[in-house]
Amino acid sequence: MMTDTTTTPVPDLVTPSWDYAPAPEARGIATIREHYGLFIGGEFVDPASDASFATISPSTEEHLAEVALADATDVDRAVAAARKAAKGWQKLSGAQRGKYLYRLARLLQERAREFAVLESIDNGKPIRETRDGDVPTAAAFLFYHAGWADKLDHAGLGPDPRPLGVAGQVIPWNFPLLMLSWKIAPALATGNTVVIKPAETTPLTALLFAELCQQADLPPGVVNIVTGAGETGAAIVAHDDVDKVAFTGSTAVGKAIQRELAGTRKRLTLELGGKAANIVYDDAPIDQAVEGIVDGIFFNQGHVCCAGSRLLVQESIHDEVVDRLKARLQTLRLGDPLDKNTDIGAINSAQQLERITTLTDTGEAEGAERWSPDCELPDQGFWFRPTVFTNVAQAARIATEEIFGPVLSVLTFRTPDEAVAKANNTAYGLSAGIWTDKGSRILWTADRLKAGVVWANTFNRFDPTSPFGGYKESGFGREGGRHGLAAYLAASDDVEVSR
Ligand code: NAD
Ligand code: MN
Repeated sequence: MMTDTTTTPVPDLVTPSWDYAPAPEARGIATIREHYGLFIGGEFVDPASDASFATISPSTEEHLAEVALADATDVDRAVAAARKAAKGWQKLSGAQRGKYLYRLARLLQERAREFAVLESIDNGKPIRETRDGDVPTAAAFLFYHAGWADKLDHAGLGPDPRPLGVAGQVIPWNFPLLMLSWKIAPALATGNTVVIKPAETTPLTALLFAELCQQADLPPGVVNIVTGAGETGAAIVAHDDVDKVAFTGSTAVGKAIQRELAGTRKRLTLELGGKAANIVYDDAPIDQAVEGIVDGIFFNQGHVCCAGSRLLVQESIHDEVVDRLKARLQTLRLGDPLDKNTDIGAINSAQQLERITTLTDTGEAEGAERWSPDCELPDQGFWFRPTVFTNVAQAARIATEEIFGPVLSVLTFRTPDEAVAKANNTAYGLSAGIWTDKGSRILWTADRLKAGVVWANTFNRFDPTSPFGGYKESGFGREGGRHGLAAYLAASDDVEVSR
């Protein structure tokens, strides 16, 4: 006898039938002015010339604001304001300087949502990252250095360490507010005053931070913020009355700055590019490693100097890792940076998109195999699909040059020695990752890697207590931790520095 099994329909539990509903963060909390001046001597002032430039939202190409373009005359005014403020700032006790830093940290926490929304709009990065990463980490840097301000005598940097004076600081667009806090917090804690320039595509959170300085009653001139592009940065670097230059950005500009400052009395720290190896051994917990690979290179659209852009995977598990990685990438959501579910936001600028496109085209031309998940790109704005290259030769441009985009190059190794040799086969030396079940293997590998930061079974973790910085063409000097304080203090044999 036949039974009829077709009468009761079986619900399809495998394929969800719902449609995606966006969860946008309200943008009203962030007020964007039509026009911004320069922040000099505690006030917003007009630039000497009437020149300005536009900042746009890279996810929509919407015009956001006109921002003052500072020239050498404006930089001179800003440096003079910083110099004038230096005496009083240095006379304060460490505890009093710390009080201002605590205030800035707390105000930033209070206005965290405003900063997160503004950063996402101006930079294109997902709100999930600005809300949970950029802003809290920036506040943590301020808190941490507030704590150091009255304990400098105990930092192991000699008795009574002295500030350098005026710091000229130039920062990039990939972590605009976070890089600002990495620069300002140690400088202020150690008694220096600053002139800082945010990147030309992302000036808005720095200008909001200027308002925070006013709100905190920070003495005028301790923090000066000038806006503009490369020429404005160059004017800060070249200014005679700047005692210390701190630069984060491209290796090419870093090299030019180092050449320019050679033979001068100015102190210099450089935090430049990277081409980090993320090493996965065959005994690694694979699902965890895949999450780490995704975090390593697709976080912040790969606009990360310490991004794990070269995956070195042990040959025996290559296929399994690549298959699981591709399956994971299929689930990433690309789109509106203000949508709380977005994983991948916009590329920061048309220029950066062009650079990523050109470099990835060489990948195919040099014989690597290219793969991206199916995902639709919005019509407006600058977008790039997460991309994985397999079969990559060690000498290929995509394996040697910093792409600074959501692009992963996969290489293989057979033995730990080979992993280390390949990982170190780069002009850079900023960071590296190790994935393995064995503690002894972590230590063996980390000991041999020429990288300023080595993460084990994690990636892209930032903590103010941990010094960050590079070897080789990734630059020199450290930011964060006790080491980061040294970059803003005079060595005992430094006779130039006045009190
Ligand atoms: P960039 O080095 O040109 O810009 C970084 C900052 O330096 C900006 O504020 C810029 O206005 C300023 N600047 C530019 N020229 C200057 C000069 N001559 N003197 C002083 N300051 C100057 O970097 P970019 O063009 O925005 O990006 C290009 C590449 O740099 C990226 O593709 C990436 O590889 C790398 N990059 C690295 C980092 C990092 O965090 N290490 C950050 C941004 C870019
Ligand atoms: Mn912008």
